[in-house]
Amino acid sequence: MNSHWRIPLVHLQREYASLGDRLEPAIIRVLESGTFIQGCQLDQFEKEFSKYIGVNHCIGVNSGFDALYVSLWALGVGPGDEVITVPNSFIASSDAIVRCGARPVFVDVEEDSYCMDSQKIENRITPRTKAILPVHLHGQAAKIKEIIEVAEQHSLWVVEDACQSHGADVNGRKTGSIGTIGCFSFYPTKNIGCYGDGGAITTNSPELSQRCRMFRDYGRVGRYSHAVTGINSRLDEIQAAVLRVKLEYLDKWNERRRTISMRYREGLERTDLVLPIGESLRRHVFHNFVIRHKKRDGIKEKLSGEGIESAIHYPVPIHMQPSYQPYGNIRLPVSESVCNEILSLPMNPWLTDGETDIVMDQVKLCLS
Ligand SMILES: *Cc1c(COP(=O)(O)O)cnc(C)c1O
Repeated sequence: MNSHWRIPLVHLQREYASLGDRLEPAIIRVLESGTFIQGCQLDQFEKEFSKYIGVNHCIGVNSGFDALYVSLWALGVGPGDEVITVPNSFIASSDAIVRCGARPVFVDVEEDSYCMDSQKIENRITPRTKAILPVHLHGQAAKIKEIIEVAEQHSLWVVEDACQSHGADVNGRKTGSIGTIGCFSFYPTKNIGCYGDGGAITTNSPELSQRCRMFRDYGRVGRYSHAVTGINSRLDEIQAAVLRVKLEYLDKWNERRRTISMRYREGLERTDLVLPIGESLRRHVFHNFVIRHKKRDGIKEKLSGEGIESAIHYPVPIHMQPSYQPYGNIRLPVSESVCNEILSLPMNPWLTDGETDIVMDQVKLCLS
């Protein structure tokens, strides 16, 4: 996927080179066990991940999208309902709302954090609103306390999209443990990823946990007893075994991402680039390191010419996607303008200091 880049955004070959000795025996043990679906690897991973996030329940599912979809279903979100969310995200956060039959209602993001602007939620609430779905984008926690305050005043659920923020926290509480329910993706390039698709739901509610468990497995309440029409979305044993090994390294990897971000920050702060905010009470885990500049397209092209991969997260706000035409009749000025200026630089725990220097030198050459 990225072998032709001198400096790719994400470097999973290096991850494998450093961890293969631990991952291979874990995978082989699953092959030898003969159990591939809903066995002890999933049980153990669910226990370990709920402990890591700081909640009572974790439910493994097949993807981040499914985590969102199953969570919304468990909350009873369906046709006629509205869910407030952001346009500046990966499409899955909104698609899950549409898949439930509900209507996504967009609010703009903050200019500095690129996350949901909690000040703009209130006037988008209607009698049909059921939930607020903020996204902790790029590894930066949204202003979740303020969002929960608004939600509580209007008796709404808060579904946290933590698909980019494994390990990020707000005042010591991890994202995915603060709202009603948290949703994670283990897509290979996330801060912790498996070797295929995977996801998880986190919550402190025993009822929600039970509903999610039932829905992910054909609505099962007994072997051949089905209480509701569910889906098949189970995190398989091989992926769970891979994730159990990688979870031991997540904090160390996030620390390395933060160190790289400080190096980028020091090297780029005396330029006219806009850099990510660095709040101590909202601990960022830098899924992406996003810079902002009017000459974005020129910088991207220059990097590319030097063999350095960069990306735009995201070039088209969701409400402007063709598939969102039915919900897109609204202007969201911050999202619509930042998408023309943002650029994600290479960021992964295996990036070397020397590589960050090469990236910064090339970026700076574009600024003068
Ligand atoms: C990756 C991602 C998802 C979806 O995860 P998948 O596992 O690819 O389905 C949802 N929301 C956000 C913000 C993401 O980055």
